[in-house]
Amino acid sequence: MSLKLNSLLIHGGTDGDETTGAVNVPVYQTSTYKQDGLGQTRGWEYSRTGNPTRDALEKLIADLEQGEYGLAFASGLAAINTVLSLFHEGDQLIVSDNIYGGTFRILDNVFKNFGITYKIVNTSNLDSVKEAIDEKVKAIYVESPANPLLTVTDIEAVAKIAKAEGKLLIVDNTFLTPYLQRPLALGADIVIHSGTKYLGGHSDTVSGLVAVKDKELADRLYYLQNAIGGVLAPWDSFLVIRGIKTLGVRMDRHVKNAERIAKWLVTNPAISRVYYPGLENDPGYEIQKKQADGPGAMISFELKEEYDYKSFFAQLKLITLAESLGGVESLACHPASMTHAAIPAEIRKQVGITDGLIRLSVGIEDADDLIEDLKQAIEASVKEVG
Ligand SMILES: *Cc1c(COP(=O)(O)O)cnc(C)c1O
Repeated sequence: MSLKLNSLLIHGGTDGDETTGAVNVPVYQTSTYKQDGLGQTRGWEYSRTGNPTRDALEKLIADLEQGEYGLAFASGLAAINTVLSLFHEGDQLIVSDNIYGGTFRILDNVFKNFGITYKIVNTSNLDSVKEAIDEKVKAIYVESPANPLLTVTDIEAVAKIAKAEGKLLIVDNTFLTPYLQRPLALGADIVIHSGTKYLGGHSDTVSGLVAVKDKELADRLYYLQNAIGGVLAPWDSFLVIRGIKTLGVRMDRHVKNAERIAKWLVTNPAISRVYYPGLENDPGYEIQKKQADGPGAMISFELKEEYDYKSFFAQLKLITLAESLGGVESLACHPASMTHAAIPAEIRKQVGITDGLIRLSVGIEDADDLIEDLKQAIEASVKEVG
């Protein structure tokens, strides 16, 4: 029976435990497995190579992303590290111009040392993508909506360009999750997640996931996963599976709250700019609507000159000042000094990550309370005149 997404969240991948009938996949807290004779395994040898709890999560993310193969890692960056290890000295990647700071850092300070380079391109501009492609370029790496300015890239259009040129398209789908956007179905080759965010959903575990369709690509990634070893532990695999069961109901509320807050921010005279692809006048609105089932729940905004962003953060009472996103609780962060501090000030300025930029991860609390908190923090952050 082919299940719809809301059922797959609960029954996709491995549904419960065959042996005992337990409705949840047990936590197989083991590093190794008994072999019945030389060369006779029961399909499991060593937990870096394979573990039944991790395997259940890997099958689940493959199902949700409409892929064939899934892989789970100890963090989003361990997933990114493994995917980037597909490339060789001399290869280059085209990278969206506002991406997660840690992704930039691993490209700039780790892979560049191995001769794998990157060039930053505004991937929402298809001509720029076309122009940037040459022999050296082996892949295009996109976040959409991108972090932290929520810039939307037309995934299907970039996939067509990539395919025509024989390049891989890699999409970081952390901000929307497969509940709202399925990049493989839009033509991407590799989907990456920080499972730490919406998939886990409760700010209680760090994890990373990858999904692909192509068997050969999957085989290379499984090889690298085992060779590099940044795998997700059984207990954390269990937590992410548990988180995913409620992804649908959580995302519905996240988006509903975010849409209300974005609309409220737009009408607030203290705010100079709101970045949210769910707003009709947002430059990414039409493409977002075409390629995803919702705009997500990340909002960035800037306070006007007369307001002090530092005291805004200090005044927040309900919304927590913290890195990360995608948990049930609302978080506020200051990209310039937190998530995107690894990006040199020069590049930050170029792409529009100003010092006054505030990023919100809208949680699933009562939206009235969230608006009340934002309102009082804004009012209390007016600069003293004179
Ligand atoms: C958090 C994040 C990552 C990195 O994931 P970790 O789990 O923190 O290693 C990558 N991409 C995006 C968009 C993220 O938000």
